[in-house]
Amino acid sequence: MSEFDALARIRRGLAQLETGSLLRKRALLESAQGAHVRVDGRELVSFCSNDYLGLAHDPQLAEAALAAIKKHGVGAGASHLLTGHHRLHHEFEQAFAAFVGKPAALMFSTGYMANLGVLTALLSRHGEVFADRLNHASLNDAALQCGAKFTRYAHGDLDQLEAQLKKSAARDKLICSDLVFSMDGDIADADRLLALAEAHDAWLYLDDAHGFGVLNDGRGGLGEAARQSPRVIYLATLGKAAGAFGAAVAAHAEVVDWLVQKARTYVYTTATPPMLAAALLASLQRIESGQARRETLRRHIATLRAGLSGLAHWRLMPSATPIQPLVIGENAEAVAVSKKLLEQGLLVPAIRTPTVPRGAARLRISLSSAHAADEVERLVAAIRLLDAERAR
Ligand SMILES: *Cc1c(COP(=O)(O)O)cnc(C)c1O
Repeated sequence: MSEFDALARIRRGLAQLETGSLLRKRALLESAQGAHVRVDGRELVSFCSNDYLGLAHDPQLAEAALAAIKKHGVGAGASHLLTGHHRLHHEFEQAFAAFVGKPAALMFSTGYMANLGVLTALLSRHGEVFADRLNHASLNDAALQCGAKFTRYAHGDLDQLEAQLKKSAARDKLICSDLVFSMDGDIADADRLLALAEAHDAWLYLDDAHGFGVLNDGRGGLGEAARQSPRVIYLATLGKAAGAFGAAVAAHAEVVDWLVQKARTYVYTTATPPMLAAALLASLQRIESGQARRETLRRHIATLRAGLSGLAHWRLMPSATPIQPLVIGENAEAVAVSKKLLEQGLLVPAIRTPTVPRGAARLRISLSSAHAADEVERLVAAIRLLDAERAR
């Protein structure tokens, strides 16, 4: 057998993950993404996608993409700076900037790439990044990659952030935060973050992966002051509520110009297919006219929160967004509850340590406007019954 040390270490690593029930496996999705899916051969009501508005399988997005494919083919064929920048990308950037209320915007392949690109373009070892402890992994990776000092504050503790900013001697400061926290569903205090950024001459980078399309008539979590401020840089990812793929950064025009020069994950990669921009233009229209979907979503959130209040053993975390975490406690119990729901055709993922703190393993329920009201009620009833049965 050909065996070498590094491969043997990987094999032991995999075995360790397996023993600790931490080996992750990918379920096979056999239908379109959405509230109703076929996974590993079973029809399920899914409470685990980020497709909050049911746009991933929307016919208008698909038709826009198809029309663009017929006209322009599939591949962009080059990076943006070397003829890959299609008129459709350009139109989407302009429409996106206008929609979120910033002067300019730039499309990236993914949110992960955008976060890496923006932080490394703006900061160097002369900088300091201030980050909420519960920020998305891609923001943490970006902060580490850019070479700046990396300072984290306890989740939502803006007094601690203020003290850290006061102490900082860095030339360039950047505060970065999820706008909607992806595991807890709560919303950052963007107004106070902006006030702190202004008081301490820092950039404010807001990652609105889960708010864009949902909050504030779909425009996402930016308030008026943040729209006006040249120091606020806004990120929306487009694979969640927007139902497609990719990401867009909206900012002051000169910041966008700088990113075109310096964001390595923008410069050194192939442009996304133009058909994606066409789908995203259709998605923007769906989001803009999506008031009824957001109203349905709001009703589902209210139904779930009312239905799951006052459980004997488990606790719904405070959240006004479609991300509704139900804290169960230990990993094994969270997994067991998730399994029992699955037996009833309800797909709700268990999120375990180390993704969330020890003892706070949870079901991460995410709601979509594409759920039917009685499906949300079914989930509530199933969870209430399991909670009651545990008591006996
Ligand atoms: C999903 C997510 C990202 C990554 O976006 P992709 O487009 O999926 O790469 C970044 N930040 C947050 C908060 C996210 O939830």
